[in-house]
Amino acid sequence: MSKILIIEDEESIAELEKDYLELSGFTVEIENSGDDGLKRALEEKFDLLILDLMLPGTDGFEICKRVRKVKNTPILMVSAKKEDIDKIRGLGLGADDYITKPFSPSELVARVKAHLARYERLIGSGVQENEIIEIRGLKIDKTARRVYVNGEERSFTTKEFDLLTFLAQNPNHVFTKEELFCRIWDMESVGDIATVTVHIKKIREKIEFNTSKPQYIETIWGVGYRFKV
Ligand code: CA
Repeated sequence: MSKILIIEDEESIAELEKDYLELSGFTVEIENSGDDGLKRALEEKFDLLILDLMLPGTDGFEICKRVRKVKNTPILMVSAKKEDIDKIRGLGLGADDYITKPFSPSELVARVKAHLARYERLIGSGVQENEIIEIRGLKIDKTARRVYVNGEERSFTTKEFDLLTFLAQNPNHVFTKEELFCRIWDMESVGDIATVTVHIKKIREKIEFNTSKPQYIETIWGVGYRFKV
């Protein structure tokens, strides 16, 4: 859930922006003074700032400059005057976008979405976080190819790991043994669907507390298996 801070002294405008953004699923907070807005923008974590230019106390120019020194949070600047927008551009304060009042709420929402998406792509490309699937006490680290049960690592063979991960990535989907065999073992492999049964048994021994009452991989009699969530 993306969190947005609106710094805007005209309360009716701030409330309107907030209403539309909340309708689009964002969490929104408002500050009406420049000083309080700057303080929160620096101290708290927001995913995007909507910044009015003319504010009592610290103005939008200053807030943009100060925030940009320490954070990459997308900043959407709002002004009633086209000339001010030109001025901000000229100053190169590091705002990501500019919008002139009056604007349509849908335009604001569209721009906010575009900047959040761009920022997420940027962050996503820079930070290499391990891809992890976590379900109840089971944790699958896809990047490191490790499996933990209640914090304890269990050792898995390549195929056991692939099979477990495939099922966990498609929760509640029932797969036949044939489907699983085709997905996890390449076609030239020696073996048959009994291989799947054997692997499921081994996986259960490693992750289940009670293998006769499995809480993760469920047998659907006459069909196949599914990962329960
Ligand atoms: Ca204002």
